[in-house]
Amino acid sequence: MKKLALHWQILLGMLLGIVFALVLVQVSALSPEQLKKIEEAQSEIVALNADKKVLKSDLAKITADYAANTLTAIEFHQQKEIIDLKLNKLDDLILKLKDITGQQTWAQAFISDWIKPFGNIFINSLKLIAIPLILAALIKGVSDLKDISSLSKMGFKTISIYIVTTVIAVSIGLAVVSIVKPGGSINEDTRNELIEAYAGDAEMKQKDAAAQKEAGPLQALEDLVPSNIFEAASSNSNMLQVIFFAVFFGVALILIPEDLAEPVKKFFDGFNEVILKMVDLIMLAAPYGVFALMAALVIEAPSADLFTALGMYAFCVVLGLALMIVVYMTFVKVYAKKSPLFFLKGMVPAQLLAFSTSSSAATLPVTMERVTEHIGVEEEVASFVLPIGATINMDGTSLYQAVAAVFIAQAFGMDLSFGTQLGIIATATLASIGSAAVPGAGMVMLVGVLGYAGIPEAGLALIFAVDRPLDMCRTVVNVTGDATVATLVAKSVGKLHDPVVKNWDDNLKKKEA
Ligand code: ASP
Repeated sequence: MKKLALHWQILLGMLLGIVFALVLVQVSALSPEQLKKIEEAQSEIVALNADKKVLKSDLAKITADYAANTLTAIEFHQQKEIIDLKLNKLDDLILKLKDITGQQTWAQAFISDWIKPFGNIFINSLKLIAIPLILAALIKGVSDLKDISSLSKMGFKTISIYIVTTVIAVSIGLAVVSIVKPGGSINEDTRNELIEAYAGDAEMKQKDAAAQKEAGPLQALEDLVPSNIFEAASSNSNMLQVIFFAVFFGVALILIPEDLAEPVKKFFDGFNEVILKMVDLIMLAAPYGVFALMAALVIEAPSADLFTALGMYAFCVVLGLALMIVVYMTFVKVYAKKSPLFFLKGMVPAQLLAFSTSSSAATLPVTMERVTEHIGVEEEVASFVLPIGATINMDGTSLYQAVAAVFIAQAFGMDLSFGTQLGIIATATLASIGSAAVPGAGMVMLVGVLGYAGIPEAGLALIFAVDRPLDMCRTVVNVTGDATVATLVAKSVGKLHDPVVKNWDDNLKKKEA
């Protein structure tokens, strides 16, 4: 039997994962009585939270009275004790009610206990090889360059094209959201409902952002240089530091005498091949991995009503992302002289993985493999351009940030001046550079964009419900953007050829024989 191409296998895995989870959720649905109980508990929680608010303002009042000496110390402490007691009681009640509202069906429990772990194992195994891959590929890539000047030329081109594509992406996002005006379709009730439902989650993102914000102007530069390479390599958020070390190492390798450099180069050559083989092996499990990931996503998805409320916003993001893919394909066609169909066909497995993992870092090993072996970018270009791209080039993320910022402003009835919109282009570009290549990172950095434009940060709660699916879509664009730029840079330095397919097809042939 002819073996199904890898991307069809992955797609099939994704679809089966969704169908499997939907069917299971359907047959395990809670009984009407249970649903009623949950609903009652939910409204009770809302009421208790309102009571808490009143008590808290009472507390603020007596504290102020005490400070203004209209209340004696004894009176203050007596009253405070009573309020604290009531607050504690309310918290206990809310906790108990949350047990009821968080009740899982057996299908949800089954998927999260027995299916989801396989998805996590799959993502972890991809992440596991990302750092060694960057190290080996980059050291090999840089040391293969004949001299330092070709390195700096390529570096300059890479960074410039990355910035240009990001600015194009943000501009597309701004244009789409200004024309469609999705924020206009959000009425006051929906707005309040969303804010109520997701205020807690939004606050957490704000806290994450605040932790990142306490930095001086040169912090980014300072962060580039690790004080300990093992420490840098052991935390996935420090990819730039690993890149710095690898480039530095590669440069030094060019500068030492040939006979001494040779064994080191050979070592990294072999190391690199081993890692690429590991990618091959992991990809054999990809259809099962994405099955598990999609099944887990289905049971965690928020309710359909919220999706419809945010439909126009999600539509804008997706439309913008689709336009961005058209821009890439135009570049590929006009400048690199490659057929877009050929390009997309080569990239599909990486795009599907980006979609199901929501992480460009986890997808990086596969992106590298696809770009070198299926698009025809020479390894020394791909291994330089792609790891940097996975870290700093996030066109999908920046486009989403622009749409989200303006959408929130529209929903709050704010008008953004032209100057503010230009500022959004700049801040979204920087924010996307600063976003880590992991799920949900774009939303944390969005806080900075909102802060700059004076848009209420609590508005994050508005877009929370649909963030995960949009994260999946923007990650596809992030990865496609990196691959496009690698192709363009390769073309410009004469290192784009017809692909020499080795890994997958060897495997497949062996299996078929
Ligand atoms: N998940 C995205 C990525 O890994 C980043 C983001 O937009 O949240 O590329």
